[in-house]
Amino acid sequence: MRKIQMVDLQTQYQHIKADIDKGIEEVIASAAFIKGPKVTAFQEHLEQYTGAKHVITVGNGTDALQIALMALGLQPGDEVITPTFTFIATAEVVALLGLTPVVVDVDWETMNISVEGIRKAITPKTKAIVPVHLFGQCANMEAIMTLAREHNLFVVEDACQAIGAKYTFRDGTTKQAGTIGHIGCTSFFPSKNLGCYGDGGAIFTNDDELAEKMKAVANHGCFVRYHHDFVGVNSRLDSIQAAILDAKLPHLDAYIANRQRAATYYDKAFAHNAHILTPGREKSSTHVYHQYTLRLIDVDRDAVREELAARGIPAMIYYPIPLHLQKAYQDPRYLPGDFPVAEKLAACVLSLPMHTELDDEQLEYITRNVLEIIG
Ligand SMILES: *Cc1c(COP(=O)(O)O)cnc(C)c1O
Repeated sequence: MRKIQMVDLQTQYQHIKADIDKGIEEVIASAAFIKGPKVTAFQEHLEQYTGAKHVITVGNGTDALQIALMALGLQPGDEVITPTFTFIATAEVVALLGLTPVVVDVDWETMNISVEGIRKAITPKTKAIVPVHLFGQCANMEAIMTLAREHNLFVVEDACQAIGAKYTFRDGTTKQAGTIGHIGCTSFFPSKNLGCYGDGGAIFTNDDELAEKMKAVANHGCFVRYHHDFVGVNSRLDSIQAAILDAKLPHLDAYIANRQRAATYYDKAFAHNAHILTPGREKSSTHVYHQYTLRLIDVDRDAVREELAARGIPAMIYYPIPLHLQKAYQDPRYLPGDFPVAEKLAACVLSLPMHTELDDEQLEYITRNVLEIIG
């Protein structure tokens, strides 16, 4: 049996080595390392794939979120609503920009931001919502977009874990994660569903004005070279990463299918164990399983994780501490116990190996051992 890893990028590379190597060699031969034709080509292909009118590539997913918020013209003290159960980057950029992160609880089943939580958190200072499509399925975007319209709020989707997930609205229209709100952000961190071999990210929007503004923000605040209209940042996807991503994009649907197949295997194996809750599903969204995350009930989660490691099965805790309990984000408005669902999830979640190369032998070994350990 091949060694079990959380993510197996080596095996994935072996299948597409010829295309990846060719792309990298072309960039080196052309010496167009920054803003080369590979970047433009990849952006166009990603526009076609996602249906977004504009794709703007940037240095990483965190930059994508920061640039998105910088383009909205928010003022210090404006409130931005995010879930408390997420990766830190979601709230970090809000805090860095002098905006006020307002955190809300999540839904126990989908682990995504609670719409009721958002509704209660809206104040006259609220300017934007940043829903996170956690672990690969969209948040309840129908309700979130309706709330945003009612209160005149921007929606910036954190789609870093959900590229390729599809959301179907009640009127029958289907949109991809990241193309539903005013702006969507994604990450090409190597382990993400569409990962490069370094850092990378992208921003999606259908709004021409926001697109121009975000390109300028990412380029030192200039629309015209050496004319700086406002304070911006420097954030770019380099051509080598673009070439790698362009070689991988045609495989993304197959990669998603492989992840879904592994998830179905897990779902079936764990369906009848009282201590294991498999991931709940958001009914209007497909799930691209960036992570396959169990909730373990009345079990010593950390002991399970150790015993799995001893048997050669890695497992990770995403995320062990909700935002409102992080040292850097302590705020007199929030106390332990304020967001009980997120706190309960942080104490009971366990993510199993999930990637594009899991085979039946590995899946059988993982599920058999999880069931043996948990009993
Ligand atoms: C990965 C990730 C980010 C940040 O992406 P980087 O490319 O690592 O900066 C932001 N939000 C979420 C939910 C993520 O998973």
